[in-house]
Amino acid sequence: MALIVQKFGGTSVGTVERIQVVADRVVRERKAGNDMIIVVSAMSGETNRLVGLAGEISQRPAAREMDVLLSTGEQVTIALLSMALEERDCPARSFTGGQVRITTDNVHSKARIKNIDASRVRDDLDAGRVVIVAGFQGVDEQGNITTLGRGGSDTTAVAMAAALNADECQIYTDVDGVYTTDPRVVPEARRLPQITYEEMLEMASLGSKVLQIRSVEFASKYNVPLRVLSSFEEGSGTLISVEDKKMEQPLISGIAFNRDEAKLTILGVPDEPGVASRILGPVADANIEIDMIVQNVAADSTTDFTFTVHRNDFERGMEVLEQVAKELGAREVSGDDKIVKVSLVGVGMRSHAGIASKMFSTLAEESINIRMISTSEIKISVVVDEKYLELGVRALHQAFDLEQE
Ligand code: ASP
Ligand code: MG
Repeated sequence: MALIVQKFGGTSVGTVERIQVVADRVVRERKAGNDMIIVVSAMSGETNRLVGLAGEISQRPAAREMDVLLSTGEQVTIALLSMALEERDCPARSFTGGQVRITTDNVHSKARIKNIDASRVRDDLDAGRVVIVAGFQGVDEQGNITTLGRGGSDTTAVAMAAALNADECQIYTDVDGVYTTDPRVVPEARRLPQITYEEMLEMASLGSKVLQIRSVEFASKYNVPLRVLSSFEEGSGTLISVEDKKMEQPLISGIAFNRDEAKLTILGVPDEPGVASRILGPVADANIEIDMIVQNVAADSTTDFTFTVHRNDFERGMEVLEQVAKELGAREVSGDDKIVKVSLVGVGMRSHAGIASKMFSTLAEESINIRMISTSEIKISVVVDEKYLELGVRALHQAFDLEQE
């Protein structure tokens, strides 16, 4: 007999009717002989509604009280789902995060799970009950309610699966899987039957709309097979798991892109030890996260240094860099906040040369100028002008044969 953890997101439990549909599905799965743990989110819109209520009372509500408030959304759905199962003569019991002893650190609103007391749930499973757990929440060591960050129910589900050594963790949502790229940009984008944890993490910009990225990190660490499926239609979704070394991997699994990029350049800085840290130190001190970094080979005794940041940090980054330029005696500072990053992702890349050159020639054929390049073992990223995003992604999707058969 298998143990399956299923997680249903906000839209999947958004109305009483939807909860009934979930209950029917759980009953079917039970009849097939599986043990079940169900993790649910709050009904869609509920968490935002609660955030709104707090905002009407306080501009800076205490983090502790925010967590007490936001955790109530999930408590509603666990109880309703449990009742729906009982109505179907399917024994079930609901639990808040605190009740199953999901212990977290004490960082309110983005707490991390430290431990789960699996024995509590085990007893109910052994007694033949479906266990329903409120997503997104836990308690710290003092018993204060904590929440795991928006979208955190995914992480609850994976953590429950890891703690109980479940056979699979299934995330039911409003899309039917992970796609080769965003279908809004490339209508021919194809659902991937399977993808590795590594690839999924590299495709964060695509994947984060489907799953909380932290849940993928968690699944990878504890080797929990994770499946994304639609709760609205039948299908096998996308399985996220370890790389199958026996199988030949596709070269490219997908194309991720990020619109919210900006780049900053400091020109004519003295080429000497310590310069990179004197530039990036103040940027880090200003709490600005850096993505790509490129330093030119020095032609004379000076060099140019370029890095990318989130577009929201552009203005602030320019201010910091102007200051650094003065201190270092650099020639000038320039920036561009109309750039995007496009990445090819695939574990198959590891064993194949020539992917980069094909990527670059494909972009060249469309007259798209590449502004920056960075690579890792399973990813090649380029920075291009914002206006070329759609064109570039479409051309690459076609060049690498990612479309539907
Ligand atoms: N209800 C929470 C949110 O809306 C957690 C979740 O849905 O995963 O972010
Ligand atoms: Mg979600």
